[in-house]
Amino acid sequence: MVDFSLSDEERQIRDTVRSFIQKEVMPLEPEVLRNERAGRPGLDLDAITELQLKAKKAGFWGINTPEEYGGMNAGAVMAAIIVMETGRTFVPFSFGGSADNILYAGTDEQKRRYLIPTIEGARRSCFAITEPGAGSDARNITSRAVKDGGDYVINGEKTFITGGNEADFVMVFAVVPDAGVTCFLADRDMGWKSEPIPTMGQWGPAALVFEDVRVPEENVLGEVGKGFELAMTWIRNGRFMIPARAIGSAERLLQMAIDYANIRQSMGHVIADYQAIQWQIADSQVEIEATKWLTLYAAWRAQQGLDARHASSIAKLNGAIMANQVVDRVLQIHGGMGYTKELPIERWYRELRLLRIFEGTDEIQRRTIARNLLKGHVKLGGIGE
Ligand SMILES: Cc1cc2nc3c(=O)[nH]c(=O)nc-3n(C[C@H](O)[C@H](O)[C@H](O)COP(=O)(O)OP(=O)(O)OC[C@H]3O[C@@H](n4cnc5c(N)ncnc54)[C@H](O)[C@@H]3O)c2cc1C
Repeated sequence: MVDFSLSDEERQIRDTVRSFIQKEVMPLEPEVLRNERAGRPGLDLDAITELQLKAKKAGFWGINTPEEYGGMNAGAVMAAIIVMETGRTFVPFSFGGSADNILYAGTDEQKRRYLIPTIEGARRSCFAITEPGAGSDARNITSRAVKDGGDYVINGEKTFITGGNEADFVMVFAVVPDAGVTCFLADRDMGWKSEPIPTMGQWGPAALVFEDVRVPEENVLGEVGKGFELAMTWIRNGRFMIPARAIGSAERLLQMAIDYANIRQSMGHVIADYQAIQWQIADSQVEIEATKWLTLYAAWRAQQGLDARHASSIAKLNGAIMANQVVDRVLQIHGGMGYTKELPIERWYRELRLLRIFEGTDEIQRRTIARNLLKGHVKLGGIGE
């Protein structure tokens, strides 16, 4: 039987996270807006660490990190539900105690030097595959890593790298001649440079430059020539987290629109009385609910060890479009006020636009979904198989 209910324990975790976000994180929103509008980071690293340690005391640390590394190992469904809750605020907060999943592909020594310190918060990583000439076409990267004695010498340029300004090491993908795309763990003090890229949003990514950066061969992550598969594992396994976050953001925004519609007067009535407004509210909830169940289904597949790639692409495409439609309607319902900086709607609007671009654009998700169907990799009509 299909069961949509949460267990008591899952509900308790969801409610505790919701209350933590409401009591500890949302009150920081005015400060975050002030900082960002003054050109500073919304929250500095110390403030984020302080929040993470507070959350740790409440039991939230390493949500998807295996227990042997001190984490909760909550599973993909619970992790998605938790991200829905953190997505309710634009404060740049996430629970501590986790690391990119490809670091688990490391050797024992790599785990000691990179994975464990990242989980503990002592090191910061970034993931660099995109290049100025290769984004959607990631197989076409041209950064090169040439073997020289016991080292690889990396040359090339990466762009739009989230966290690239702050990271002290990078998981960088480069082509090894005659072997193919390979992933390297490269410390900043090995010589790569970063430069912030101003964007319309607040997540300032970086351009990274590698000029004769020498990386010892023991820093190859996974196998030489198997980096592309490693990169795709990382991206696919986290893809349903994007629509999960979108759900939290969209629900928060929709509540703002509902509250405003119930008090804003126009032509002798509150605007909630007008069908034009009611339909925008109704359509928004329908779209949010659709994304919610697509996302939980993708997470459930991942948790069951089933292939979650197709379901994740559907959820990601749907969630990215949904969030942009909802924020646009919410701005519209607020009229001129929605367009001002007195309210945070314009801030959400700029942030949510990114969802349609990173980790596979809308067009690339559609291409993947269509290709799976046209080539018969996925059959229509299934439920849960
Ligand atoms: C803020 C931000 C953070 C990011 N963080 C990271 C990161 O941490 N690490 C990282 O490696 N990358 C990161 N990226 C890069 C991101 O993944 C790429 O921008 C994205 O994959 C698109 O690549 P592109 O920008 O080169 O666009 P292009 O690939 O040049 O695409 C341009 C347009 O053409 C369309 N298009 C391309 N190919 C096809 C096709 N075959 N069929 C139909 N349409 C097509 C695209 O959908 C898009 O509309 C980030 C990007 C941004 C903006």
